[in-house]
Parts: sequence; C-alpha cells; structure tokens
Amino acid sequence: MSALPAHNNDPGFDLNIPQLNARFEHRAAEDILRWTWQTFGAAAVASSSFQTQSIPLLHLISKVCPALPVIFIDTGFHFPETLAFRDELQRRFDLNIVTVRAQVDQSEQFRRHGEAPYRSDPDLCCYINKVEPMQRALAGAAAWVSGVRRDQTANRAGLPVFQPRDDGVLKVHPMLHWTEQQVWTYINRHDLPAHPLLAQGYASIGCAPCTRPVTDGEDARAGRWAGTGKTECGLHLER
Ligand code: SF4
Repeated sequence: MSALPAHNNDPGFDLNIPQLNARFEHRAAEDILRWTWQTFGAAAVASSSFQTQSIPLLHLISKVCPALPVIFIDTGFHFPETLAFRDELQRRFDLNIVTVRAQVDQSEQFRRHGEAPYRSDPDLCCYINKVEPMQRALAGAAAWVSGVRRDQTANRAGLPVFQPRDDGVLKVHPMLHWTEQQVWTYINRHDLPAHPLLAQGYASIGCAPCTRPVTDGEDARAGRWAGTGKTECGLHLER
C-alpha cells in the first residue's frame, strides 16, 4: 500500500460534461475507466469499500489502470473480515491501495460523545470517520472513480456517469448501469472471491456496528443503519 501523489485538480482544459455524459451513457465500464485514466492520469483516484459488490470495478482497475490509487477509508469500525478481504484483493489484483483514517482517534471520539459515536450521532460519526478523510484524500485530485450503481439506492438512481462536484473534483461512475445480476455474472465468469461475510447474510457491508445481515426478500442495503432512516454515509451525496 502506498501514499497518494500530490494532485493538481486543474486538468488544463475544459470538459463539456453534458456532452461527455451523452457520449459515455451506454459505454462499457472499462471504456469509462480508460478514458478517465488517459485524461487525468495521476490526478485521478478511485475509492472502494472492499465488499463483494466492489470486485468487478477493482478487477477492471487491475486490468485497465493498475497504478490508479484506490482509497480505502479505515473507519476503525470495520469487520476484521473486511480488512482481510481488502488484503486478499490487494495481493490478488496487485492494487495500489491507499488507506486513510480519521484525524480524531477512536478513544477521543468516545470521550467527546460520552458513548459510541455511531449511537449518539451516526451522521457525525460518518462525517468524522468517512467523509472528512475522503475530503483530505481528494485534496487537489481532478477525478474520483466510484463503483456506485443506480440500482442500489434512490439517491444513486439519479446519478450521471460524470458528476462535477463543488470542490472541482469530477466524480466518475463506471459501474452505474450494472445490476446485481451482472456483478455476479462477472464474479463467476472470472472465478473471483466473495466477501467472507456474504455467506452469513451480509449482502451489503459497512462498519460492523451499523451493519446487520438481511433476510430472504429484504433489499441488499436493508441491513445498513437498520431502523435509523439513514441510507447513505454521505460520501456519495451530491456536493
Ligand atoms: S457506518 Fe457507522 S460506525 Fe461507520 S462511520 Fe458511519 S456511523 Fe460510524
């Protein structure tokens, strides 16, 4: 695992985003990845939560642009199986993983809140442990590749392939059109591994305190922040 290079988020040219979205709306994920890497090079980063859903994008990155830094946000609350799976995929795909963490350590977070921060204020906990570390990792970057799909949440259903952000970073979504079924077809065709907790019913995996297994017929993300009304950590909300 390595450190992030210094970024310069000015690509040196103007991008016509509506034109780009029209051009790439129906293009394959590898075409979108290749264009992003050729256009932004070292000023591009990707991010991944290293769950089963992440595997096709990580595998494609290893084929198309293996030097692309893949940011993993280590919240300190992950399942040990997720960290082991990250390490397994790093070895298998030889990825350029960059791990980032909160500036406030966990014991200080518990001290400030008087209890577990994910209980007292999950939105603040996600901000401290996910959103702010990602903002730091993106400082000066020009493009951020993310594996979100339209079929995952109502918020994601409305996303474009290329999404400019207020901070000047162009968010890139190569997997936007993929379905759950396509993810599994890809994994099986390439004989790739699944996250070890999937077999125990964890269809979508985030931090351990905020993830439960789902039962048959439940939405894959029903086990994330169950019973709180929260559906997103904030990383992929428009900004
Ligand atoms: S998912 Fe839960 S534990 Fe993880 S950062 Fe968000 S609130 Fe905290």
